[in-house]
Amino acid sequence: MRQSAVNEGNSFGMNTEIAYSVFGEKAESAIAAMTAELLRLENKLSRFMPDSEVSKINQLAGLDCIKISCELVEILSFAHLVSEISQGMFDITVAPLVDLWDYRKAKDIPPKSKMRKILSKVGYRELVLNPKDHIASLSKLGQAIDLGGIGKGYASDRCMQLFQQYGVNSAYINIGGNVATLGNKPDGSMWRVGIRHPRDNERLIGAVRVAGKAVVTSGDYERCFFDRQGKRWHHILDPTTGYPAESGLISVSVIADSAMNADALSTAIFVAGIDKGLGYLAQFPGTEVVVVDKNLEVFITQGLKAYFQVADGITANII
Ligand code: ADP
Ligand code: MG
Repeated sequence: MRQSAVNEGNSFGMNTEIAYSVFGEKAESAIAAMTAELLRLENKLSRFMPDSEVSKINQLAGLDCIKISCELVEILSFAHLVSEISQGMFDITVAPLVDLWDYRKAKDIPPKSKMRKILSKVGYRELVLNPKDHIASLSKLGQAIDLGGIGKGYASDRCMQLFQQYGVNSAYINIGGNVATLGNKPDGSMWRVGIRHPRDNERLIGAVRVAGKAVVTSGDYERCFFDRQGKRWHHILDPTTGYPAESGLISVSVIADSAMNADALSTAIFVAGIDKGLGYLAQFPGTEVVVVDKNLEVFITQGLKAYFQVADGITANII
């Protein structure tokens, strides 16, 4: 029998780093298809691509509706569900706020006067979606969608589906902290997904063993800036206050069958905090979480007990 091809590598896409391992005879073609797929999705979902479907909705905010694809209907519908469950803590209409807090340019917190005006543009209920006819629109001028909290998860899921079409039954992909896996590792053991220490990028807090599941992390350490007083301002925003979320959590990793679900939920839980967050998880049976709070205490849900291995010097509390 022909030896299976092994393909591992790194690349850049969806505005972030990508790492992958793909095992199977057609691994090479599967990876080429993955690269094309990620480009296709970026061109469709990014609000920074002027011709993307999302940009078209944004350009017509307050003016008109547009016909959108099935897959955008799927993403927007799930985003809406998580917004409803989290009472707006997850909200893809945060784009105007994200721009206000542009972590690449920001040196200081934005003035309160600006904040009020911007907050009036944020509201998931004003993203009107007719899933039957595939029509979407934003109600107010100046509103805009940003899929930063859900798009990379969706893309990770799509890559796994694509790999299956190429006969691959063992694969791993990490799109900027959005990990999805297919099956076990070729030796039959489970994938080990490391979870970064949020205050020391050389260390892990531990690793989760998964097979065919996704592990998606939202943390305050990825994209942030420090003001003159040395306070950290990060990129996950509380749509009710307009400020970076301060729920007491600094890292949230959700383990679920779907990376899109895990992506949206990790962002929602990061904003809402652990008590409310556990309530959101309860709506998705089989979904687990690892969180780190601002005192660097680690908490994991019951279902992870047998699958989470702590790093040296770390203790995990079961919740
Ligand atoms: P990352 O993009 O680092 O993987 P997340 O999945 O948590 O992290 O998403 C954060 C991104 O989602 C932000 O960069 C922004 O584009 C968008 N975002 C910020 N706050 C929210 C929110 N409350 N709800 C939905 N999306 C958000
Ligand atoms: Mg997310």
